[in-house]
Amino acid sequence: MATKKVALACSVCGSRNYTITANPSRTKRLEVNKFCKHCGQYTLHQETK
Ligand SMILES: [Zn+2]
Repeated sequence: MATKKVALACSVCGSRNYTITANPSRTKRLEVNKFCKHCGQYTLHQETK
C-alpha cells in the first residue's frame, strides 16, 4: 500500500513549501498557517493534490 503525499502550497505566492502524508480518512482540504520563505512571513498554506 503506497503512502500518498500531498503538498502544502502558500496561498499568497503559490509555492509548495511543505510535503505531508495524506490522510485518506480526511476529506476536507487542509489549511494551516506555516512560514513561507518566499513571502518571508507566516501565510495560509493549502493542501494540493
Ligand atoms: Zn508565499
